Amino acid sequence: MTPIRSTVKLSDGRELIYFDETPDSGRSAYADTRELPPPPPASQLRYDPLVDEWIAVAAHRQTRTFLPPSDACPLCPTNSHFASEIPAPSYDVVVFENQFPSFSYREVPGGDITELTDMVPVKPGYGRCEVVCFTSDHNSSFGALTPARVRTVVDALADRTTEMSQLPGVAQVFPFENRGVEIGVTLHHPHGQIYAYPTVPPRTEAMLRAARKHAEKTGGRNLYADVLAAEQEAKVRVIGANEHWTAYVPAAARWPFEVQIAPHRQVLDLPGLTDDERDAFGPLYLDVLHRFDGLFGKPMPYISAWHQAVVGEGRDLGYLHLQLFSIRRAADKLKYLAGSESAMGAFVSDVVPEKAAQLLRDAI
Ligand SMILES: [Zn+2]
Repeated sequence: MTPIRSTVKLSDGRELIYFDETPDSGRSAYADTRELPPPPPASQLRYDPLVDEWIAVAAHRQTRTFLPPSDACPLCPTNSHFASEIPAPSYDVVVFENQFPSFSYREVPGGDITELTDMVPVKPGYGRCEVVCFTSDHNSSFGALTPARVRTVVDALADRTTEMSQLPGVAQVFPFENRGVEIGVTLHHPHGQIYAYPTVPPRTEAMLRAARKHAEKTGGRNLYADVLAAEQEAKVRVIGANEHWTAYVPAAARWPFEVQIAPHRQVLDLPGLTDDERDAFGPLYLDVLHRFDGLFGKPMPYISAWHQAVVGEGRDLGYLHLQLFSIRRAADKLKYLAGSESAMGAFVSDVVPEKAAQLLRDAI
């Protein structure tokens, strides 16, 4: 069933959208009673001419909430002792505009600066950043959700992708989850985020370049489809599969434990998934998450990232897939991005991908 959507405005004008699994929840009857400062202005995008990339400068993010006690969690439903970001006393899945966004459409003081030097153009970081709460249970995790709830989350992300893709100047919509203090989460409550980027991010640019080259070489074949087919054929790095999705460790994985989950046909973005594909995703993804946690017998810190087609030029080259990876390389060891990775962008992996696949297959 498609979740029931209702929208309210928070007291500072930000939008909040409930995605409910049952009708007549009445959530939109609850108003935000807090007095909030006006949202910060848009961040600044600065062009780095040396690598042809844009960097977002969002100084206001320094003041964001950092690991609050559980009775002051901004992502729990509001109760009689604490007014959180969510005015209702309960929710299923809820999405709202980030109070400390990396990108927004808010007015920039002093107008739009156009350049810092001849070499460094500057523009406002217009875009949108949203927070997605997967459950009202503070102590839960994505891996503990039911397949039905995962379906609601996928529907919510698809809804947001459709809407945010239509915002002025948005180049790509990126839903993701950071999990664990090791990754740098600032709130323990199970949640993800969605960024609507005003420029095509560097990794997507690189993937588009590769996809274009492959299409030219092969008379128009889709690169990701060919990579997936090769992995399905090789089998050695496949972790699991069902009728609509396959989960595998990439042959040249750069993280100690990395899995990609992809649909069996070329789908551009989450809104493009059929009902059956949306239903089939949850069970496989949950199985992979359980294997991640099973690897070392403790919650795995991870980043879970939906790669979707860009909004503009190159859109037809896209192939929706989820990239899940952890920086934990052993029970008590983390992989840090040090000299080679951070300064040169050259990854040196500590775990052989075939071995990682074997460990993940054995992890439950
Ligand atoms: Zn909470």
